[in-house]
Amino acid sequence: MEILNVQHLTKVYGKGENQVNALKDVSFTLEQGEFAAVVGESGSGKSTLLNCLGALDTPTSGHICIAGKDLFSMKEEQRTIFRRRNIGFVFQSFQLIAELNVEENIMFPILLDYRKPELSAVNEILEVLGLKERRHHLPNQLSGGQQQRVAIGRALITRPKLILADEPTGNLDSKNSQDVVDLLVKASRLYQQTILMITHNNNLTVSADRVLRVSDGVLTDWGGRKNEKLS
Ligand code: ADP
Ligand code: ADP
Repeated sequence: MEILNVQHLTKVYGKGENQVNALKDVSFTLEQGEFAAVVGESGSGKSTLLNCLGALDTPTSGHICIAGKDLFSMKEEQRTIFRRRNIGFVFQSFQLIAELNVEENIMFPILLDYRKPELSAVNEILEVLGLKERRHHLPNQLSGGQQQRVAIGRALITRPKLILADEPTGNLDSKNSQDVVDLLVKASRLYQQTILMITHNNNLTVSADRVLRVSDGVLTDWGGRKNEKLS
């Protein structure tokens, strides 16, 4: 099943002399459960791409369909709810809430959605992430790698169809980086989630099903499957 369908995505920042064409006619699709790495030089448009896919930024033109729904034909309120339920985010700076402990941080998106978290789901995630013994710890009592695992747990708890990770290993050493990527791979297999991960680390792209290469706003390679054409 196709989870992500991006067609002719364009993003322009600024006007006149200050105009930056951050994304130029980007098209690709991703299937359910695929793990895609996004690579490219600094300033090539990787974050802009992820921000548009997550509706954190608005495309100038083009279409983004997630699980068959056109993200930007929804009303803003609808889009916020859709995003909360269908997209998980992981950032370089873990962005945990300092006052909440591990399990509270993980449950947070469910509470935001005015739903009651199922303890079994929280326990399963703590188990998968190897954080069971840390459930009552606060973020500042955890290592960077552990904090990022909590952030991944928070992205997984709603079982989103799509996970967007912007350099999730940027602040981690190589061992912790590999662990974090292994967890993302595990999630994409276990829960059949589609993952897009920006990384500068070539060692980490090996784990990906496909590598999307962005150069000066253009998607130059998307590791497309055989017999597939960009439209
Ligand atoms: P990275 O290269 O690590 O992806 P950047 O430092 O280029 O990150 O950008 C981080 C964020 O800052 C981007 O997601 C973007 O939204 C914002 N940003 C980048 N460049 C500019 C700019 N020229 N003006 C305003 N915001 C910017
Ligand atoms: P990357 O993530 O690959 O480092 P970005 O997507 O952050 O690249 O940036 C792509 C281009 O768009 C850069 O030239 C950057 O300066 C520009 N840019 C990004 N965000 C903004 C913004 N909010 N305002 C103006 N320019 C931006």
